[in-house]
Amino acid sequence: MAKKTRKFKTEVQQLLDIVIHSLYSKKEIYLRELLSNASDAIDRARFESLTDKSLTDGSEDWKIKIVPDKEARTLAIIDNGVGMNAEEIDQNLGTIANSGTRNFLESLKNAKDAGGPEFIGQFGVGFYASFMVADKVTVLTKRAGKDQEAILWTSDGTGKYSIEQAEKEAAGTEVTLHFREDMDEFLEEWKIRGTVKEYSDYVSYPITMDVERKEPSEKEGEEPVATIEEETLNSMKAIWKKAKSEVSEEEYNEFYKHVSHDYTDPLRVIHYIAEGTTEFRALLYIPSQAPFDLFFRDSIKGIHLYVKNVYITDDCKELLPEYLRFVRGVVDSSDLPLNVSREMLQDDAIIRRIRKSIVGKILSELSDIKDAKRDDYLGFYNQFGKVLKEGVHSDFENHDKLKDLVMFRSTSSEDENPVLLRDYVDRMPSSQKEIYYITSDSVETAASSPHLEAFKEKGYEVLFFVDPIDEWIVQRLTEYDGKKLKAVDRGDIDFEGEDEKADSEAENEAKEEYKDLLDFIQKQLDDDVKEVRLSKRLTDSVCCLVADEAGMNANMERIMRAMNQDVPKGKRILELNPGHDVLKNMKEIFEKDKDDQVLADFIDLVYGQALIAEGSQVKNPSRFAKLVSSLMVGSG
Ligand code: ADP
Repeated sequence: MAKKTRKFKTEVQQLLDIVIHSLYSKKEIYLRELLSNASDAIDRARFESLTDKSLTDGSEDWKIKIVPDKEARTLAIIDNGVGMNAEEIDQNLGTIANSGTRNFLESLKNAKDAGGPEFIGQFGVGFYASFMVADKVTVLTKRAGKDQEAILWTSDGTGKYSIEQAEKEAAGTEVTLHFREDMDEFLEEWKIRGTVKEYSDYVSYPITMDVERKEPSEKEGEEPVATIEEETLNSMKAIWKKAKSEVSEEEYNEFYKHVSHDYTDPLRVIHYIAEGTTEFRALLYIPSQAPFDLFFRDSIKGIHLYVKNVYITDDCKELLPEYLRFVRGVVDSSDLPLNVSREMLQDDAIIRRIRKSIVGKILSELSDIKDAKRDDYLGFYNQFGKVLKEGVHSDFENHDKLKDLVMFRSTSSEDENPVLLRDYVDRMPSSQKEIYYITSDSVETAASSPHLEAFKEKGYEVLFFVDPIDEWIVQRLTEYDGKKLKAVDRGDIDFEGEDEKADSEAENEAKEEYKDLLDFIQKQLDDDVKEVRLSKRLTDSVCCLVADEAGMNANMERIMRAMNQDVPKGKRILELNPGHDVLKNMKEIFEKDKDDQVLADFIDLVYGQALIAEGSQVKNPSRFAKLVSSLMVGSG
């Protein structure tokens, strides 16, 4: 193969600029990234050799070696992992394979200072971190397997890289950094040693380095004798195999960064050993910040799965339900067979048992955070609540636990913080029998909805269900603590209070009084509403639209349309406030001359207002605007 020079894909170039200029204050973490890659490559080689014996003679001495060269001012990281062929190297180091990083760059374009370097850091920029310290990087690599050619990749990080055929005996990869000016510190033994200990101690293969030791000479008066020894710098103990007391918070956090590609510390660490019918160790993390790609299904990453300390996959989705997809970590099972295949994972009784156990553990941990540290839980909920909520709909087994974890904004939420159902129920006045909610597309629309008026007056709190997923959740979330959930914009509202009787007498009178007018309005709006009636919900506004018990409300209709679903034109009920002057006015006109054009216009205006208040569009906006203008002139 002749030497070829290629340009980085634009997004890599952008990323390189960010990495070089602003990414990390701790430049030494480049080493963690490269060691992590080397360790992943060995994991893969080891895994492939389980099924393809030709890849190894079985006596492989898996290791990663660091070779600093003070004179040349270079440092090489050499692994005997899976290596890369020409195509893979092009794909892996010339473009950004990771969709999360691509999405991140997209969003960076839109929000330049979305949060500074820390924010940038949550993306696995990995290999490219080398260019913080090096002005030239070479990668000499050979793919494991028969008849593979070695490749040399070279770049100075300024836009181009070259690849050419090369010579390399064994499979694996050798990354060599040519340090920038002022980076000599990174060649020092103490610095390398310290960095490995601090960031990569848990790597499960030996990370070695030749170190010079000076032994005092046996003969007196002679110079000490220098000997070179290859020393292993890391303890290699898989962190999940250690006892909790042996692991420091920093070690947990560093390992989290390794498995998650997140650069912020996790919110919680869950580390436990399950014994009994299913034996496994789990080290799980609840992150403190949501990644950008939380809602991109393609980028959902699973848990790292090991079997008897042998890496199987870094993406075992079967171990977690989708609504806990933000959890990161490792599960090491001693029950699964080593040659477990992806297909087997999908329907395996052991995997199902492990999953049940870790789901229970995660939910009880969340419950602990909620009870012991409400602020932390609010922080967590703001980041991951929308995902966690999906569980209320999909996880029957843990339905009750999840009901205690979900939160919603409400008419009483302070500081814009959502409230728990438990808190809601605990502060319900004794006259209130049901839990009330309203679904809408935003807190603002919900909060100003006319449907809330009578509830506010009675001092009844109303929950706001404003995420699209909430419409699905309420289908399952039908009761809490024996109290039914009831939509304020649906069906009849019956306040079972003491004044009930007096109320119903007044109601009957009003019904009688307005009957003819309501019939008349019904006729005019027959195409759009199924019923016109007097309202018990309204105190200030003149009108609102409600769905009947089984019908679709405006929010659900909007969501279905946004998903390109056919939405049958559902008619709703128009409720009018008998205490409002507008209605009294209309009644007067009606009694004088029911064919007066003003009355017909008023009916359209009233219906239009009801649509606007629920966030829907009026049927004929320009006619509606004209009617409003003429009213304004009339009243001037
Ligand atoms: P990430 O590790 O987050 O995927 P990197 O930029 O660090 O991102 O690496 C990109 C890809 O290059 C890796 O996913 C891997 O496929 C490949 N790679 C990097 N280093 C090595 C290595 N030492 N051996 C084999 N493949 C490697």
